[in-house]
Parts: sequence; C-alpha cells; structure tokens
Amino acid sequence: MEKIVIFDIDGTLCTISEERQKLIETKDWDQFHRLGEYEKVIEPVRLLLYLFKEEATIVISTGRPDRYRMMTTSWLRDNGIQYNVLAMRPNHDFRPSYEVKERIADYYNTVDTEIIAVEDRQQDIDMYLSKGFTVIKIKGGQIESKCFS
Ligand SMILES: [Mg+2]
Repeated sequence: MEKIVIFDIDGTLCTISEERQKLIETKDWDQFHRLGEYEKVIEPVRLLLYLFKEEATIVISTGRPDRYRMMTTSWLRDNGIQYNVLAMRPNHDFRPSYEVKERIADYYNTVDTEIIAVEDRQQDIDMYLSKGFTVIKIKGGQIESKCFS
C-alpha cells in the first residue's frame, strides 16, 4: 500500500497574514497569491511533513495558480520543505479550490493507495472526508486535536 500525504499550503504549511486575510474577503486573489512569499512556515505542520516524508509520498496540493510556481518552490526550498509533487491550479481556472483539489486527489486515489490530507479549509476537508481519506485539520496555525469519523 503506497502512502500519500497531501498538504495544502496557505493556512496549512504557511500562515495567512491579516493583510492577506482581508484580500480573501475582497477576493483579490492575485494580490493574495503574490504576498504569499512573505508568509511564515507553520512549524508543527512542517515537522509533520518531515516525519511523514520517511514513509510517504508527499503531494503538495494548492489552489495557487501555476504562474506562482517559481515563487512557491522558492518558498518551500527556503523553508526546508521536501516533497515529491507540487500540484497547482491551472492558470485561468477559477473553480473553487475543493474542485481543483478533488481532481488532484482522484489522480492519486487508487486501490493501492492510502491517503492522508492535511488541510485548513472546511470545504476542502469535507471533500477529502467524502473520499474516505484521513484528514488532519489545521486551524489558526495549530493541528486541531479532533477525531473525524
Ligand atoms: Mg488553505
């Protein structure tokens, strides 16, 4: 059984500053993504990824558009995050993030895989749970200690 752990970026691996939080409310996505390079890593999640890396394939799945790939890979490198795949939203794809991430999840979801998702957004969590994945929920920069069933 291949183990795959899917990590989100914004709000999961990195913080979302107050300034960027406001951009979510006004749906200024370009500026939101642009400012992502200044965010801090969420240390408990970085450690979790590091520990999973030993036994699992690490897939980073983000709603950030592909044109922010260079910026994103630099940020991941600068924060010492090692991964196998960085799956991003296609440019000019404006579907909700749970739809973008569902397509990525379906690609890896086979009878031979066991999948764990680490995610902060409830809609995306619900999508992963509907597929029977184990979900580790991140809330306010912390791993939320709650059991899903
Ligand atoms: Mg997120």
